[in-house]
Amino acid sequence: MNKSGDVIVVGAGIVGSSTAYHLAAGGTAVTLVEQTHPAGGPTGKSSALLHAFYLMPELSQLAIRGLQVLLSLPEIAGAGSFVTQVGMMWVCGKDSEAAWRAAAARIRGEGARMETLSPQAFADAAPCFSRDDVAVAIWEPEFGYADAFGATNAIAKAARARGATIMQNAPVRVLRRQGSRITGVDLANGDRLEADTVVLAAGPWTRRLLQTAGMDLPLHVERHPMAVLDAAGRARTIMPFAWCDDIACNYGRPDNEGVILVGTWAGGGTGIRHDEPMQPRRVDDPDHYMEGVDERESVAIVETFASRIPAMTGLGIRPGYAGLYDMSPDDLPVIGAMPGVDNFIVAAGSSGHGFKTGPAVGEAIAQLVTRERQRILEPFSPGRFVAA
Ligand SMILES: Cc1cc2nc3c(=O)[nH]c(=O)nc-3n(C[C@H](O)[C@H](O)[C@H](O)COP(=O)(O)OP(=O)(O)OC[C@H]3O[C@@H](n4cnc5c(N)ncnc54)[C@H](O)[C@@H]3O)c2cc1C
Repeated sequence: MNKSGDVIVVGAGIVGSSTAYHLAAGGTAVTLVEQTHPAGGPTGKSSALLHAFYLMPELSQLAIRGLQVLLSLPEIAGAGSFVTQVGMMWVCGKDSEAAWRAAAARIRGEGARMETLSPQAFADAAPCFSRDDVAVAIWEPEFGYADAFGATNAIAKAARARGATIMQNAPVRVLRRQGSRITGVDLANGDRLEADTVVLAAGPWTRRLLQTAGMDLPLHVERHPMAVLDAAGRARTIMPFAWCDDIACNYGRPDNEGVILVGTWAGGGTGIRHDEPMQPRRVDDPDHYMEGVDERESVAIVETFASRIPAMTGLGIRPGYAGLYDMSPDDLPVIGAMPGVDNFIVAAGSSGHGFKTGPAVGEAIAQLVTRERQRILEPFSPGRFVAA
């Protein structure tokens, strides 16, 4: 049995890596245990759109702080920049207009730049886009997208530089429980680690691990396909910014000048759950799902853009890829102490929109572990699904 410091963090996605970094930076002895490598799960496949626009204030605040952490990576990790601030554009129809205008005004008050554009101002900013059904466009000039793989690995590297131990290729098999307390983990290779606190940030594998210690949460896993479009030299002309369309239920972004990434969008924490044009598939086993995306699936995604961005339908289609969303019943993350269980914090259920908030969620979890109550995390408590 090894004492692995004060805290074990299971899972080196953006949340686990950020938790380990902030704990180590604050002087806590932490071991980050990952079955593959940092960003080896859904984080590494994230489109990583960054925005503060959420109908829920806590998500906006976490996203604003998340951007600050990402922008500080050159300083804290000695690495390059992983953020591309091309701006984020949203459009919605008449039904959502009042709620969206109110949210934009609130978020402006929280310190993010957030402009509400008239249909004409939207047309000036996005000449390739149709606007007939657009009631309001929201423009976030400070945001855009990140390199999720690079940023997460930089945060893990910064954690290691501050004393964190990072165990890669080290699957956790079981959470160890004594009475009401989680005392550590057993690894698949037979090693046993002990700590004062365990943080479980295992994304789609969370439910499986909870069940090894007699706990459960109503999480499920969905496969979400991304189409990759060949836009050699024109990506930023056709798709100049990160984009989310609440009317056609799709989103996208350029990836440098050559490629545009596009997918369908279900509402992702804005408080609305849309029927997606491409229905996501439930996945029973996150170790086995169809990672490839065939041309038929890609074409179906591109067709959702046909009336908004006609130029997009003429682009070539590269092989796409699919990633996993770990979903909660209300599409909001599940973060905090498990009721009735001591020394144990879960952070999961990010429901397809948890990259941008992840750096700040990790920071808040580190503070929860070492100090005190974190009001910003309280709406996400596991207690909304399980009683003590
Ligand atoms: C295609 C796609 C597009 C997305 N687009 C966006 C977007 O535009 N903006 C946005 O904000 N979010 C987006 N997301 C969502 C975002 O990527 C996730 O919410 C976020 O990355 C989740 O991070 P995490 O750290 O909670 O979990 P994960 O990334 O799932 O990390 C969990 C880690 O735990 C490890 N693990 C699991 N089991 C074990 C075990 N037994 N032992 C040890 N390690 C284990 C895994 O290997 C994994 O590395 C997207 C996701 C996908 C798939």
